[in-house]
Amino acid sequence: SYSVEEIFFKDRKKEILKRISGNFYGSELTAILGPSGSGKSTLMNLLFGFEQKYVCGTISMNGCSINKFRRNIVYITQENNLQPLLTVGESMNFAIKFKIGNQMNSFKKWIKIAEILKSFGLFEVESEYVKNLSGGQQKRLSIALEIVDDPKVIFLDEPTTGLDSVSSTICINLMRQLAQEGKTVVCTIHQPTTNQLKSFSHLYILANGECAYQGNGKNLVPFLSELNLICPSTFN
Ligand code: ATP
Ligand code: MG
Repeated sequence: SYSVEEIFFKDRKKEILKRISGNFYGSELTAILGPSGSGKSTLMNLLFGFEQKYVCGTISMNGCSINKFRRNIVYITQENNLQPLLTVGESMNFAIKFKIGNQMNSFKKWIKIAEILKSFGLFEVESEYVKNLSGGQQKRLSIALEIVDDPKVIFLDEPTTGLDSVSSTICINLMRQLAQEGKTVVCTIHQPTTNQLKSFSHLYILANGECAYQGNGKNLVPFLSELNLICPSTFN
């Protein structure tokens, strides 16, 4: 498992994360919730291994330093890192070239790209320019580009922010599908609907840099609604 023990993170002036511990397992989809400024993105950055020097505590994978598993861990930040003037297919080709190299013959590569694009609902737009895709399609493409070499652990910071609820649900279902394939999937999320919340096997709630809750979300809905952490219109 991907394990975090008692991590603290302090910048020059203040402590940003305090005593966060947890385990993230394969086949699980975990959500990190919390108000703006609570430390969600900071935690994601640390989990991925940014700013290792300034972290107290341990972050490990299967008991070893995460540096050993660098190639198996990906992080999809909130900013899309897409090339607007490439087509979807060209983007996938570049991702494969960059992450896997040239050892795959073009037929195998074509099969792989088709397979991924189909499962991400992007097959129909393979020859479309990235700049012409919808926000939801762009987000799915940015995930697709990161998983071409089959990483074991996927972190996503606010993958649904800026998407409408239909596109958000598609994105969450996609993350769940990746988890069902055995991957460890962890995301931060802003105001999911109560239905969307059900997709997550595990929840962490951050408040002021501390973990205020961790566990499954079953009995939490009224509480989350009160804190404005889930979509208010769907709670009744
Ligand atoms: P949001 O929902 O708005 O994305 P968040 O939960 O992701 O918020 P963070 O971005 O992790 O919150 O920020 C947590 C706190 O740490 C904030 O008070 C922020 O100002 C501070 N912070 C974040 N990054 C740094 C940094 N590099 N240096 C100093 N302070 C920082
Ligand atoms: Mg953030």
